[in-house]
Amino acid sequence: MRFFTSIYFILLAYIILAIGFWEWKLQKQNGSIYAQQVITLRTQIDSSAHPYEYREQMDALHHTLSMRKTQYVGEGATFLFVILIGAFVVYRSFARRIILSRQQNNFMLSVTHELKSPIAAMKLNLQTLEKRQLSDEQKAQLIDRCIRESNRLNDLCNNMLLASQLEGRQYKTQREDINLSALMEDIITGYANRYPQRFEEELTPGIHIYGDRVMLEMAVNNLLENAIKYTPADKLISVSLSMKQNVAVIVVADNGTGIPESEKKHIFEKFYRVGNEESRKAKGTGLGLYLTNKIVLQHKGRITVKDNTPSGSVFEISIPM
Ligand code: ADP
Repeated sequence: MRFFTSIYFILLAYIILAIGFWEWKLQKQNGSIYAQQVITLRTQIDSSAHPYEYREQMDALHHTLSMRKTQYVGEGATFLFVILIGAFVVYRSFARRIILSRQQNNFMLSVTHELKSPIAAMKLNLQTLEKRQLSDEQKAQLIDRCIRESNRLNDLCNNMLLASQLEGRQYKTQREDINLSALMEDIITGYANRYPQRFEEELTPGIHIYGDRVMLEMAVNNLLENAIKYTPADKLISVSLSMKQNVAVIVVADNGTGIPESEKKHIFEKFYRVGNEESRKAKGTGLGLYLTNKIVLQHKGRITVKDNTPSGSVFEISIPM
């Protein structure tokens, strides 16, 4: 990228200098033509014999000189302007490509890691179950870990599948009347079983919306999964569902690492992961919020993120009924 940027700016500077040089040359040539025309005029008209005619011709020559000057400056400026716009467009699209390919590369590395680590963990737990004589409690613990890992694997596969289906416009949304309160209750119960005493909930019962169940489940899952990932284990996560002026509002608030102001506008981009060390320690692919945002948009809603007090983030999804 640095090499490309240097070459690019050297070439751009060369083009701008060349335009400046040709502008200067043309103006100089314009001046010489004018001087030549004045000499010719002096040989043709005697200024003391015909002062009026001489003045008139001189004025005409002067007028042509300034017309040409303006024309060259105008053309040069237009040319420069077009080149600068073109250069800006080329640079921006190239820079985007480079960033995207770097993110894709990071994504492949994260995905490989994300796929391998739960498989390795499940294998280890199952081998322990197979080879060791364990108490019922120990067995239950190992089985529970296997279930958690397979859930992670499942979430990751679902995210990847939906991302590629949405990209290729292959996903067919299946809209139906959904009891959002019941759906969220189910999801939170699942999480509360996996992460006991981490969640507090305030769900207004009986909120219905018209939407795609699989998608909405995934959106809420992604927010809860992130809240768990980016919040220390001793801090609570609160989830609420309410209805405000015919809009269903889902809020997931955590007291975790929080998201720097400058990163907030990027976190919904594909493959984007915040670059600070603390959040990078958590596993992830940068697909979760990208998909959540897409899902919310598909439901004509919007998602926002704010800082929580004293620390952490508050994600809010609003979906019209
Ligand atoms: P990831 O798979 O990395 O979690 P996401 O798209 O879900 O990808 O999130 C993008 C980035 O936003 C994450 O890498 C993380 O840095 C940041 N982020 C998302 N949710 C939270 C949160 N609740 N607290 C702090 N940072 C978060």
